[in-house]
Amino acid sequence: MHPHRTLVLATRNPGKTAEIRALLKDYPVDIKDLNTFGPIPEAVEDGTTFDENAYKKASLTARVLGLPALADDSGLVVAALGGAPGVHSARYAGPDATDADRCARLLEAMAGCTDRRAAFECVISIAVPTGPALTYEARCEGLIAEAPAGVNGFGYDPIFYYPPLGRTFAELSPEEKNRVSHRGLALRELAGEFDKVLAWIRYQMPNPEPVACLRED
Ligand code: IMP
Repeated sequence: MHPHRTLVLATRNPGKTAEIRALLKDYPVDIKDLNTFGPIPEAVEDGTTFDENAYKKASLTARVLGLPALADDSGLVVAALGGAPGVHSARYAGPDATDADRCARLLEAMAGCTDRRAAFECVISIAVPTGPALTYEARCEGLIAEAPAGVNGFGYDPIFYYPPLGRTFAELSPEEKNRVSHRGLALRELAGEFDKVLAWIRYQMPNPEPVACLRED
């Protein structure tokens, strides 16, 4: 495949790769993820915004591999907690904590709080090795439930109550969640104009040096 038709997903999660491949299946693009390559340096996610972290991951991957790369970063933003856990969503209850620990810690922090407004946010960054990047962002608004409910999904899904469907994210089927979630919205926005993204990548990628061929005649 032509190098300008390859897009590397900065993830080792096969579930994420399958989801993105399915969404972009009608486009002439060869999607690979980090499992295709050997060990490569991984970005430190120490940015203060989802944007910054997504760009760090996409741009480091693009530079290291010399190929366009896509990364996403997401998390839960709670109004009454000044935006926490935000970019710290994955590490909110310490490095060895489980999803259940993180949900419990958040419910504890929200005890007695009447303002339950929260939103999941997702930023997707597509970067080329020379630095420029495109960004897609989406958010899904809801409320922090009083107690966990449901067994589907992951992360904070059991405590994220989504008023339009009257259930928590963990009570939705994967399809129902995908239709309204921050990640689903951002990915569909990207997929909807992926022809423009491919044109942008082709424009940004350096043209390979022509190789001189010796001819006999
Ligand atoms: P990352 O973008 O894969 O680094 O995810 C950051 C963290 O945000 C995850 O570990 C979860 O704790 C939380 N998170 C992101 N998206 C979701 C979601 O759809 N449901 C529940 N938790 C999520």
